[in-house]
Amino acid sequence: MAGRHFLQIPGPTPVPDRLQRAMHRQMEDHRSSAFPAFTRSILSRLPQIVKQTKGEAFVFPATGSAMWEAALVNTVNPGARLLAPRFGQFSHLFIQTARTLGYTVDVLEEPWGEAASAERIEAALKADTAHHIQGVLLVHNETATGVTSDVGAVRAAMDRAQHPALLFVDGVSSIASLDFRFDEWGVDCAITGSQKGFMLPAGLGMLFASEKALARVEQCTTPRAYFDLRPMRANNAQGYFPSTPALSLLYGLDEALTMLLDEGMDNVAARHTRLANGVRAAVKAWGLRECAMRPEIASDSLTAIVVPEGTDARTVIDIAFTRYDIALGSGLSEVSGKVFRIGHLGDMNALTLAGALAGVEMALADAGIPITLGSGVGAALAQWRVQA
Ligand code: PLP
Repeated sequence: MAGRHFLQIPGPTPVPDRLQRAMHRQMEDHRSSAFPAFTRSILSRLPQIVKQTKGEAFVFPATGSAMWEAALVNTVNPGARLLAPRFGQFSHLFIQTARTLGYTVDVLEEPWGEAASAERIEAALKADTAHHIQGVLLVHNETATGVTSDVGAVRAAMDRAQHPALLFVDGVSSIASLDFRFDEWGVDCAITGSQKGFMLPAGLGMLFASEKALARVEQCTTPRAYFDLRPMRANNAQGYFPSTPALSLLYGLDEALTMLLDEGMDNVAARHTRLANGVRAAVKAWGLRECAMRPEIASDSLTAIVVPEGTDARTVIDIAFTRYDIALGSGLSEVSGKVFRIGHLGDMNALTLAGALAGVEMALADAGIPITLGSGVGAALAQWRVQA
């Protein structure tokens, strides 16, 4: 098809030309004496993305799921107990990963479309008077339902319970797009991948560890090899990596850090909020509803939209793709066929998103959903217009 393809799924997100150019390089010797300056350029700036001033950040050739594993096996002893709210496909998979690794996970079930309940986490931790629970697993932004949980509220609940568990936060679809306050929220391990807010291809897993988590790394008895943070820390300290780094992606990350930090993380978050407000206005104008059950938990990086009873969301997605050249996110697992998702994170501005909403409108109308063409786009433009 002529024209530009609209990749409007919540990751991977479009890679800006500037990052594509940064990655288009010849390979080089990653053991050379020149290499440490490059490693340090990345590792010294990466923590700023999550407002981390203490502890360390790590980068692996891997994806977000791998970082769930890396975070756990480095800090939690074999067979230990963990606590996790489950409210969507990614919180489910985080729990499954922990269980596969042999941990026992106490699950707090929430309806899909709800957020984590800090109150329930507090109650569960208070009931654990012997402090058997070693960690709380929290997905900050549940990409399956478009719901953002309040990490600060969960930390406050843990503090009220005076519980020493580590706080593990999956920030795969929040870090580098939504406000993330690693220090302030007392996060112990935050994880993400390169293909969403960082606007890069998939292939880099990132792990941010607090001082408390790093102390556990040294004592943890869980066997681990590739994901062992001890050789990674030792090599990073010298400006190197224990195995061959994903060089092209690292060059992309170096440039992505420049882009994000030049914009400023508060501005990046504000841009995502502004864009999301427009999409939410469009959904309302179409007479549809979001999967997120309450406005205050609706995600700023993606919107999951529920189609009317009797319509299969997969039809909308397929029409959008085949007729209008726009890729929308499908409903995962429990919400398969019931929702479609619009990603609005990464290299995105109002005009790009206005085009995407136009494509969605045509697909909705073609699928037989009674919407007025232009209604959603118009509502979004009213949000985005800059009036002097
Ligand atoms: N966690 C969340 C919230 C996600 O959205 C995803 C992927 O979309 C993952 C984890 C898994 O990450 P990856 O696909 O990079 O392994």
